Amino acid sequence: MQKGTIGVTTENIFPVIKKFLYSDHEIFLRELVSNAVDATQKIRTLSSFGEFKGDLGTLDVRVTVDKEAGTLTISDHGIGMTADDVNKYINQIAFSGAEEFLEKFKDNAANIIGHFGLGFYSAFMVADKVTIESLSYQEGAEPVRWECDGSPEYSMEKGSRTERGTDIILHIDKDSTEFLEQNRIDLLLRKYCRFLPVPVISGKEREYKDGQWVDTERDLVINSTEPQWTKKPADLTDKDYLDFYHELYPGQEDPLFWIHLNVDYPFNLTGILYFPKIKNNFDINRNRISLYCNQVFVTDSVEGVVPEFMMLMQGVIDSPDIPLNVSRSYLQADTAVKKISGYITKKVASRLDELFRADRADFEKKWNDIRIFIVYGMLTDEKFCDAALKFLLLRDTEGKYFTPEEYKTLVEANQTNAEGKIVYLYATDSTAQYPFIKAANDKGYNVLLLDGQLDNHFVGLLERKLEGVELVRVDSDVVDNLIRKSDRKVADLTPLERNILSELFALSTKKVEKANITVQFEALGATGRPAVLTQNEYMRRMKEMAAMQPGMSFYGELPDSYNLVVNTEHPVVEKIRKDADAALEATVKPYADTIEADNAQINSIRDAAGDKALDAEQDQKVKDLEKSVAAAREAQSAAIAAYAPSAPAVGQLTDLALLEAGLLKGASLAEFIARSVELLEK
Ligand code: ADP
Repeated sequence: MQKGTIGVTTENIFPVIKKFLYSDHEIFLRELVSNAVDATQKIRTLSSFGEFKGDLGTLDVRVTVDKEAGTLTISDHGIGMTADDVNKYINQIAFSGAEEFLEKFKDNAANIIGHFGLGFYSAFMVADKVTIESLSYQEGAEPVRWECDGSPEYSMEKGSRTERGTDIILHIDKDSTEFLEQNRIDLLLRKYCRFLPVPVISGKEREYKDGQWVDTERDLVINSTEPQWTKKPADLTDKDYLDFYHELYPGQEDPLFWIHLNVDYPFNLTGILYFPKIKNNFDINRNRISLYCNQVFVTDSVEGVVPEFMMLMQGVIDSPDIPLNVSRSYLQADTAVKKISGYITKKVASRLDELFRADRADFEKKWNDIRIFIVYGMLTDEKFCDAALKFLLLRDTEGKYFTPEEYKTLVEANQTNAEGKIVYLYATDSTAQYPFIKAANDKGYNVLLLDGQLDNHFVGLLERKLEGVELVRVDSDVVDNLIRKSDRKVADLTPLERNILSELFALSTKKVEKANITVQFEALGATGRPAVLTQNEYMRRMKEMAAMQPGMSFYGELPDSYNLVVNTEHPVVEKIRKDADAALEATVKPYADTIEADNAQINSIRDAAGDKALDAEQDQKVKDLEKSVAAAREAQSAAIAAYAPSAPAVGQLTDLALLEAGLLKGASLAEFIARSVELLEK
């Protein structure tokens, strides 16, 4: 019997392994089963090259729990090991400075293990003794038994195995008895070994009989050995892809479509990405892409590894070239990973382009479901964004779809403003903004519908990407001013009339809470609408953006600013003006005259003094005049307020504008209804 010390430079590696690798204990199973699978594939390869001439037998890997004996055994019919092999591969751990290294990477067990060929030794995370029984495929080989109890000393002697292959027998330690539970083992195997290329058997299939679960005669095979992503796309039907999807994500709706990745240069990468139907935000977190390394599951935390927008997709990526056993921060910085991520982005874009070109009608049908991927991709990935402009679809309020180029052609002639910008009008809610949409349509404008979750960011992106284009929400101004082709038409009002109308309308807007409404007069023609409530595009966007910025929600709390645009050329407004003039002229005119005269005096005193300070007498005079102006103003406002009830049309017009903008609610709405009935009775 050979006795020796395992060749690591550290005193005793096992306590270190146990201590630092604590959180990832379960991966020992992945490591050992992968070794068994590797050994199995090697014998297959040797056989196919004629280097091994014997009978291959059944090539499977068996994981057996023996609760009574306290062991977990992983058996294969692979190439096996001779005593020399065990010396070379197991006894000499091929690195130095282990302790220092482990210290550095202690936070992520998976890092150290696969990366530095510690795979086998991960067994000591859960076992206090490990036995290897192995018989090499080589002619005349002797079986070997190796045993180690977790100290650096091992023993090696002639073994008892009679069949080619290896048993790794773990004597599970008392803290790890969970790994003697069949269910736990099955679960782990399903997680890590689900798509390994060699059948992995874990006990027997069970069935429900006479009130309890009993083992059948059939082996329970954990994995599918030829997952679809390893096959050629040409050999797969749509049904194959869909079946595979449902195997990965049971109980989910069919995906919208998929992309089969298959590259071998400049790196090796296979995989299938699915675009799931996303119904709400909740789904977004659930969707997951899993990373595999040669069909061994590695992780499904792929943030930073795959392009950000792919976090919305599902499926599998398999690459032996990604250094999969190192930590995520390392992965994110890795140039190979960056290249892969860039490649995937390109591939996704070109596949979408292909789908668009192949069957536009179908693409349009799916657009509503896929637009969130595309918009998210465009917002988060510059390269994807540029590529996506070719198949991006803009949808108008009538449900017609246009590429950005088509849309430009459609609206260019009619929707270019005086500054030469093409104005794209959009609505965010086709029901709530219907009156504004209709007004725009009636004027021959097209209106886009941007009602997606990410669209307020998207509007800004479109403006950056589409040259000479400005996006304007359809309710941000009266229709005549949405696409301004000449100067605003100023309302023709005397200062007194302006004063009276401003006060009357301002009084009528007081009832709206949490909103600042500015009254504004414009000459919009007799057929234009009498009063419209608009919300300035720029101010609204600032507020929306601020509200989404963490720490800036203060801005989101600010009242909304609206303009009440009153059309002075509309007959109803004209009548309001004339009636008010007639009723108020006699009372208000003297105040207005006083205000005017007093202000003129103040100015002349100031002018006379020039650069010099006012003397005491002048100063007193100005103060008195200012007081008189204030008093006249107050009296004027009181007179207008007293008149207001005789002009119900003002409140009615304001309420109609508020109603149109969806702002008339509660008591104000009740009041409006009562007033409307009253007006009918007149
Ligand atoms: P790695 O697999 O990363 O090389 P391991 O510590 O897991 O590191 O294994 C070391 C070596 O031991 C393997 O490369 C292989 O040569 C040998 N080995 C491990 N398990 C088996 C097995 N079940 N059958 C044959 N050889 C094995």
